[in-house]
Amino acid sequence: MNRIKLLSEQVANQIAAGEVVERPASVVKELVENSLDAGPKKITVEIGAGGRSLVRVTDDGFGMSRDDALLCLERHATSKIQRAEDLASIATLGFRGEALPSIASVSKFVLTTRERENSSPEGTQIIVNGGTIAEVKAAGSAPGTSVEVRQLFYNLPARRKFLRTEETEAAHIQHYLTLAALAFPEVAFTFVKDGRNVWQLPAVKSGAATSSRIEALRERLRALLGDEKLLSVNFSASLEVDGSHSAPDETDIFEKASPEKSEVANPKSEIKVWGLIGSPGVSRATRDGQFVFVNRRPVENRGINYALIEGYHTLLMKGRSPVCCLFLEIDPAAVDVNIHPAKREVKFHREFEVRKLVAQAVKETLLTFHSEPEKPKPIFTTKTQSSQSENPAPEFSAPALPNFPEKLKPLPETPAQISPASQTPLKMGFSSPTPTATESKMPSAPEPVPQSAIRNPQSPTPLLNVPLRLVGVIGKLYVLLESDRGLVLLDQHAAHERILFEQMMTRIESNTAAPAQKLLLPETVELPPRDAQFLREQLVVLTKLGVGLSEFGERTFLLDALPPFVKVPDTRRFVFDLVDELRAAGREVNLARLGEHTVAKTVCRHAVKANDPLGGAELENLVEDLRRCAMPYTCPHGRPTLIEMNYRELEKKFGRTQ
Ligand code: ADP
Ligand code: MG
Repeated sequence: MNRIKLLSEQVANQIAAGEVVERPASVVKELVENSLDAGPKKITVEIGAGGRSLVRVTDDGFGMSRDDALLCLERHATSKIQRAEDLASIATLGFRGEALPSIASVSKFVLTTRERENSSPEGTQIIVNGGTIAEVKAAGSAPGTSVEVRQLFYNLPARRKFLRTEETEAAHIQHYLTLAALAFPEVAFTFVKDGRNVWQLPAVKSGAATSSRIEALRERLRALLGDEKLLSVNFSASLEVDGSHSAPDETDIFEKASPEKSEVANPKSEIKVWGLIGSPGVSRATRDGQFVFVNRRPVENRGINYALIEGYHTLLMKGRSPVCCLFLEIDPAAVDVNIHPAKREVKFHREFEVRKLVAQAVKETLLTFHSEPEKPKPIFTTKTQSSQSENPAPEFSAPALPNFPEKLKPLPETPAQISPASQTPLKMGFSSPTPTATESKMPSAPEPVPQSAIRNPQSPTPLLNVPLRLVGVIGKLYVLLESDRGLVLLDQHAAHERILFEQMMTRIESNTAAPAQKLLLPETVELPPRDAQFLREQLVVLTKLGVGLSEFGERTFLLDALPPFVKVPDTRRFVFDLVDELRAAGREVNLARLGEHTVAKTVCRHAVKANDPLGGAELENLVEDLRRCAMPYTCPHGRPTLIEMNYRELEKKFGRTQ
């Protein structure tokens, strides 16, 4: 008995719909992608009841002829690819030729289209009910295409049952539209929800140059999500595709230990990473503020998420996520978009290199943020004597930065001019070429700025590049400063931690042992076996950092020296802290660099007690030392060192403006 039968076209479409059409947002996504592929100036999206009762997407793209309109409803009918080889270099958003027939098979569907190039005012309208064409007729319409989808899943009650509330479905739709609108600022978007206008985003003009596209993106982002402090990323590199790379230990941080080997046609192809990322201190509790696109396609890719975190590194607090709107442009042959039915995920052939380059693009942007050369000379003056100045703390001495020019003597009355060239960024173990300013005091000779960091006029001016005046100290911790823009608060402890951390990293790099101060009373600490093993592996690094810990028995360690600026009231806690931090860093510790960072971070935490009173001169030194840091805006744990409240915010708080 023959059991096998070919499924009817209609059933096949409904099965395909099961993959492609998950919920109303998938309908919106497929229709908007089609519209975007049609070269439009404007797209309008209307939804009713969270997309359950209505989704209508209208564009002014090139439209379709009557024949094409009929053909596009057939399965595997597409104008975007022809041969299997084309799959290797997809430049359009769609390519499967499945969306329209799938959607039409599970809804009441009306397609109205008119060719843009055709002078006849007549278009075509096709009405499809549950996959069956009900009517094909001529219809007057504006050039472009409109697809109306009503009563989604009306013929599949089981699927309909799985839809969530209207609000949830509408939120999914809005999320997708946000992504589409960010990827295409040159297209005007209108979004109408239940008859109410949610967005009316005008088209943003943009040139072909990346800098101009970044500005367009900034404008679109502002229209969509409001103002954020964002830095421009403009980075390009050539992607190594020659297979000569090995899989270094560093891959451990990522899920897969070694990059995929594959044949890529171009031996070297260019990769561009551009867009906007949060300036130091800007972060979110979730990844919701991360928009990542590959060849303009919004994607989810864990590797890129990791790369972002790595790029921010000490600028991020634990558990916080960077915000970004980042575009990767990469040879379509080097990325596979055909691995997910809804095309949400992509796979890079050279996953590891791509991650590395993204991390590098982010790092360079953040490093350059602070070492901008074009700023006015920062002037540091003491206007009012610090409230603590009569109360100097003899036991505290600001640590000397080994590699830096002599600190400028604080001048309480006259403004001390500190040339930007003296803001030597510390090297922090980033392999990327960072702009290393010379130590000469030549006034602001422009330094070469890496391409990634050409500042655009709308990027925020780094706070430490504007003149700051010392006002006083409150709560024995917060240093009050004044700039031309308003009020600045500096967390003395966080700032000190950052300075020490960068010093330590410099020492590790230059292989100079940190000065260690022998303790008068060495102490022993006993640890549980696992912790002991853990600590044993870090002893060399600890010694380099000036922490004299040695084995004193199987599970016992002797602490006999500490860096001079570290005060440890409780030795045991200090050692346990070290172990905990190292353990928390988990497998990241496998990376030599990060292991050192973790140790340095922990040591720094014990540096200066928050409420050590500092005198005016010491505070000035602290600010100057901070200025010279490579990443001065957060402590090594990612907490901010500085908070600004500008006059606009103050006026708002005092009700002077609305
Ligand atoms: P795909 O986008 O994968 O090619 P679809 O089923 O989404 O498959 O669309 C089939 C074809 O219909 C497309 O290849 C395109 O030629 C045409 N088409 C669909 N939507 C539009 C539109 N808004 N404007 C112009 N052509 C369209
Ligand atoms: Mg499509």
